[in-house]
Amino acid sequence: MVESKPHLLSLEPTVLEVGVSEEKCSLLANRCPRCDLVFFPRRHFCTRCCSPELEEIRLSGKGCLKSLTSVYEKPKYAAVEPPYMVGEIELPQRVVVYALLTQCSSEKLKIGAEMELTTVKVREEVQEGKHVTVLAYAFRPSSVQTKR
Ligand SMILES: [Zn+2]
Repeated sequence: MVESKPHLLSLEPTVLEVGVSEEKCSLLANRCPRCDLVFFPRRHFCTRCCSPELEEIRLSGKGCLKSLTSVYEKPKYAAVEPPYMVGEIELPQRVVVYALLTQCSSEKLKIGAEMELTTVKVREEVQEGKHVTVLAYAFRPSSVQTKR
């Protein structure tokens, strides 16, 4: 018997925490309490003071687009098919996240646009009799209207 409701799994559990729904996802980072530096992806040591005592934090799901480019050739380990866009999003925690951009076009997207965290479906599979949907993180323009 295969359950019909899909389970959501993160492609990179140390980077993306997947909640009960696709809307309840967060990026995981860590922060040095001494230097107030934030690291994404997480590090074992602070790059400034070398302290291993970093605290885990969840990043804000909204940020500002700093750069973008289009990808036309598939990198070896890419989880999505080109063409697609990638960009850098600066989050309020003063950390820049490099991410897939989705639900947008390069003509309409402007540097400085407000972006929000979303997820893309990488693949679906059956694990131990359960349908599993594997998700990766991406950002989309905050202006995108979604059905909820
Ligand atoms: Zn530090």
